[in-house]
Amino acid sequence: MDRDSADLLRRHGVQVTAQRLAVLAAVSARPHATADDVAKVVRNEIGVISRQAVYDALGLLADKGLIRRIQPAGSPARYENRTGDNHHHLICRRCGRMVDVDCAVGVAPCLTPADDAGYAIDEAEVIYWGRCPECLARTPDRSGTAEETVPVPRVLRTSDDSDTDRATAHDPTDQP
Ligand SMILES: [Zn+2]
Ligand SMILES: [Zn+2]
Ligand SMILES: [Zn+2]
Repeated sequence: MDRDSADLLRRHGVQVTAQRLAVLAAVSARPHATADDVAKVVRNEIGVISRQAVYDALGLLADKGLIRRIQPAGSPARYENRTGDNHHHLICRRCGRMVDVDCAVGVAPCLTPADDAGYAIDEAEVIYWGRCPECLARTPDRSGTAEETVPVPRVLRTSDDSDTDRATAHDPTDQP
């Protein structure tokens, strides 16, 4: 695994270092992690590493096409090693959970603008915003749904992965 990763770095013209290998491994293990998530994982693996070193490694790996950077509005950047397939993301407005969704078209750009204004367009950035099944189950907001109505704590609950504590930009009580 480490040998394969080292080869991967070399093939992309990246000098192999323990820190870069650890950052790549962390992103591979936790898709859609934030830089802070990555830093935590890397520190568990190789000990001390500065935040800046993690950012630098992430930036370099993204520039070289080894990882992909996603920058959703109102959220820290997320990183993943699934690159080159033009897949998109579903993001829960409430808890911030992000999951992959295949592109219905398959190749970029998968949307056609009404007017390209003379631009040579190579990508349409698509993010689907909504609420995840867990959040929907916790707070059904459509009248007529007879799901159990457990009171929702004001504090956002961490259900599974990643950085739900960062998703506080969205008021959990806002209802349409
Ligand atoms: Zn959610
Ligand atoms: Zn993804
Ligand atoms: Zn698409």
